[in-house]
Amino acid sequence: MSADLTELYQQVILDHNKRPRNRGRLPTANRVAHGDNPTCGDQCSVYLRLENGKIADISFDGSGCAISQASSSLMTTQLKGKDAAEAASLYQQFHQIVTTGEAPEAISDLAAFAGVHTFPARIKCATLGWHAALNALKGDPIPATTESRLD
Ligand code: ZN
Repeated sequence: MSADLTELYQQVILDHNKRPRNRGRLPTANRVAHGDNPTCGDQCSVYLRLENGKIADISFDGSGCAISQASSSLMTTQLKGKDAAEAASLYQQFHQIVTTGEAPEAISDLAAFAGVHTFPARIKCATLGWHAALNALKGDPIPATTESRLD
């Protein structure tokens, strides 16, 4: 791994990669979408439960490079409690960060991905989970699962 690439994997990214948040299938989800990034081999499914127009719960599952998995993990922590308009706005800000390297000061952890802009091939890795989440928000409701639930 080059020194530049090592720099790219900043602390927040390493942390989310090591301890992914909200990982696994969400049994109560009423929206789901899948995304894949064939150029890198990343896969990501996003499960969310939409209640009264807000994301009441969200999870992701997938495999791929550290950037894609850490970004999906961080995305779930950012989108919980948001409505579709807020989610779209956060994604626009995140997209700006990964394409220009410039982060609005209030954006906190998302700015960890600013280094991605110097590796254009990795932008799709960083945005994969976000695309899946926005598609899940736009998609049709899925039928409630009839499997027994653990919770
Ligand atoms: Zn990737």
